[in-house]
Amino acid sequence: MAEAGVDVLLVSVGRDLPYLTGYEAMPLERLTMLVVPRDGEATMVIPRLEAPRVVERPGVFELRPWEETEDPVEVVAGLVERPGVAAVGDTMWARFLVELLPRWDRTRFARSTVVMNALRMRKDAAEIDALGAAGAAADRVARQLHGGEIPLVGRTEAAVSADISARLLAEGHQRVNFAIVAAGENAASPHHHAGERVIRAGEIVLTDFGGTMDGYCSDITRCVHVGEPPTELAEAYEVLHEAQRAAVAAGTVGTPCQDVDRAARRIIADAGFGERFVHRTGHGIGMEEHEDPYIVEGNPLPLEPGHAFSVEPGIYVAGRWGMRLEDIVVATPSGPRPLNDVDHRLVVLDR
Ligand code: ZN
Ligand code: ZN
Ligand code: ZN
Repeated sequence: MAEAGVDVLLVSVGRDLPYLTGYEAMPLERLTMLVVPRDGEATMVIPRLEAPRVVERPGVFELRPWEETEDPVEVVAGLVERPGVAAVGDTMWARFLVELLPRWDRTRFARSTVVMNALRMRKDAAEIDALGAAGAAADRVARQLHGGEIPLVGRTEAAVSADISARLLAEGHQRVNFAIVAAGENAASPHHHAGERVIRAGEIVLTDFGGTMDGYCSDITRCVHVGEPPTELAEAYEVLHEAQRAAVAAGTVGTPCQDVDRAARRIIADAGFGERFVHRTGHGIGMEEHEDPYIVEGNPLPLEPGHAFSVEPGIYVAGRWGMRLEDIVVATPSGPRPLNDVDHRLVVLDR
């Protein structure tokens, strides 16, 4: 905080709170806020009725329960002398910031990322283990897909999505964050919402799914083809596979994030699909499914040991087909370490 010139850190709902305190607040209209002054004791301002859910950590923070008749923003403002710079969490409700602004009218507000990113991006050994366990659980579901245990033909995308979701839970996730299933032309929309479209033989089926397991996220994309793919599609997939492999290999400590993106993009562009790779190559992952660092052109941040991120190039032909291939990777001193190891080929299924 001193380095970032922040006088007070205000952490409300979102992942910073459980990261710092172990307590996950429900996103409710009643304010929960960890107030961390640069010099002084941290205090968790919390609705009286939620206080019993908090595991107290004496020496880390104090609890300040507020009554239903109190104004919690007043309580927060009363804990700190009007700060020069206050850093607030990205997902703090706007209403609380709006109410705070007139009370601290000369305060400059910053994003809490100026303090939290350095902590959150670099995963320690326990966090990498948790990401690895979540990744392994997602891998087991992907293997079930590859093994033909999840029938596709004749089912709707929504039914297959529900099937994958149930399997993510069965394999140890406590929560499913998303299970994209996109068949044929729907696969050309990267964040397609699984719907009533029935999957047919002769199609590519893109699946992109992940959940949260013991606080940490998984995220994997694999495509399968029902029946032998046409040459055009098989060749495009080879390009995608090579691009993904190259970007994973580029994920070494010290490499700027944008260079990892370029490693994938160059190969896809050289094959003539440059215009069809319409999104960044990846995103950081941890307690959130998308977090810093982003693997995107314009991000010069060098990878550090413990940075965990997705590598997920894609090729999308509107109205016809789409494909993406995604693994989670951790940068380590001995090189990029993938947390997913399911077959990367376009697996051919017969049903
Ligand atoms: Zn996404
Ligand atoms: Zn994904
Ligand atoms: Zn992803």
